[in-house]
Parts: sequence; C-alpha cells; structure tokens
Amino acid sequence: MAYVYDTTNIFARILRGEIPNRTVLETEHTLAFRDIAPKAPDHVLVIPKGAYVTYDHFCAEASEAEIVDFTRAVAAVVKLIGAEAHSGGKGFRAITNAGENGVQEVPHFHLHILAGRCIGPMIC
Ligand code: ADP
Repeated sequence: MAYVYDTTNIFARILRGEIPNRTVLETEHTLAFRDIAPKAPDHVLVIPKGAYVTYDHFCAEASEAEIVDFTRAVAAVVKLIGAEAHSGGKGFRAITNAGENGVQEVPHFHLHILAGRCIGPMIC
C-alpha cells in the first residue's frame, strides 16, 4: 500500500515556515530542532525535508543524497549537543516511533535524539 502523506501535519507546517521552531541544524535535505516538550535536557528532533511518513517510508523511498544528508545531520546534532558516545561524551538515545503500534503522533518521519541524562531502556 502506498504511503499517504498528510501535508497539514505540524512538521510540514514547520518546514513551510508557518510555525516557529528552535532550529539546531539545517542542511540541504534535513532540519533538526528542539522538541517542544523535552523528555531530556537535550531533546532534538531530526527530520528530512522530504514528505516521508515513517522511518520505513524514508528508508524505502528517499534518495541516497537524502539518506546520507540525514545520517550526517544526526552525527552533527549529536556533536553539537556534546553527546558523542565514541569520543568521551556520555552518549544519547535515538528513537523513532512509526505508525499505530509505534504510537507515532506526528505523521512526518522524525528521529528523537535524547541526551543529557540517563534515558531508560523503554519510552512509552
Ligand atoms: P510521541 O508524542 O508519542 O513521542 P511522536 O514520535 O510522533 O510521538 O513525537 C512527536 C514529538 O513532536 C513529541 O515529542 C512532541 O513533543 C513534539 N512536537 C509536537 N509539536 C511540536 C512543535 N511544534 N515543535 C517541536 N516539537 C513538537
């Protein structure tokens, strides 16, 4: 079944500049901004600018340029917030919720980056 993207979702509106956000990083294909209701001292959402509903949608249909750009943006955000796990930082959790069982609220693919405290093994 084809993915149906709802152009009225809140992240689409952020990307169109209709509502404000606290941008951490912007690249050609990716935007990273602070979550409005942070669950950790650093809680950043990384989203592709393209119209992808879920992580699997992004993995299946994004171009290689978009995927590489997104992946590098994640690394840049982790570095910006000082949460690298490989070079002395205290690390982070990266979570994406997809669809009904994933309890996804906003139907535009986003990766939660949570850092600044120990984050438990499950978030519900
Ligand atoms: P859940 O709310 O279950 O984590 P999602 O994975 O879809 O579901 O996450 C949506 C996230 O978007 C939430 O963490 C929420 O706080 C955040 N959010 C909603 N509206 C905004 C906004 N305008 N700016 C920044 N973050 C937002």
